[in-house]
Amino acid sequence: MTRDAATAVIKAILSEKDFLNDLDAKIGDGDHGLNMVRGATAASDALNELNGDENAKNVLQAVGNAVIMNVGGSAGSLYGAGLLAAAEILDENAVLDAKTLENVFSAAVNEIQRRGQANLGDKTLLDVLIPIRDTFKAENCVGKSFETLLTEARDAARDGLELTKSLIAKKGRAAALGKASIGFEDPGAASALIIFRALCGFWKDSRRF
Ligand code: ADP
Ligand code: MG
Repeated sequence: MTRDAATAVIKAILSEKDFLNDLDAKIGDGDHGLNMVRGATAASDALNELNGDENAKNVLQAVGNAVIMNVGGSAGSLYGAGLLAAAEILDENAVLDAKTLENVFSAAVNEIQRRGQANLGDKTLLDVLIPIRDTFKAENCVGKSFETLLTEARDAARDGLELTKSLIAKKGRAAALGKASIGFEDPGAASALIIFRALCGFWKDSRRF
């Protein structure tokens, strides 16, 4: 991920702060937007200090560390750990293609699951990240352009968020509500969609990682 891609994500998060806080107020403690903005601001500062060597690995590492060090809340540490795991599997020359995205999202999802012990359907950010990852698996990519795959992944992410409305939260604060969590989107799933939409917009325009 280039600094410009990260900047597109940061901008999207800053503009959705209130929306994310409002979602979290319904089934959590109302701070998800604030937590994400803290992470985005820290990431922006970290990127300003990155001089020169700006490949996807370095950018993801800088952003991951900034998020871990500056964001409280469950999503912050999970996103941060996921970003660092993604950075870990990239090499300096990584190109933007389906295989790379499958690897990046797999690394992030696996680390988030290792730490948070949540599965698909538990009403968390994984309900958006896992469908994105699955779109880029080799068996789904046959005969499709990268552009088509990005659109499919974005649609899968949107459907994943929509589905969280009908789910009972099994992890995080919302789990305390049990069935009362039904009817509301998961805030972490919503932020994951915001992040991925911003990346798709950037990638479609620039064709750069
Ligand atoms: P907190 O819940 O500590 O206030 P946030 O409000 O920033 O933190 O983040 C809440 C989001 O974190 C939830 O909407 C959910 O998507 C995600 N989350 C919480 N626990 C887990 C978990 N164990 N695994 C995956 N995601 C989780
Ligand atoms: Mg919260």
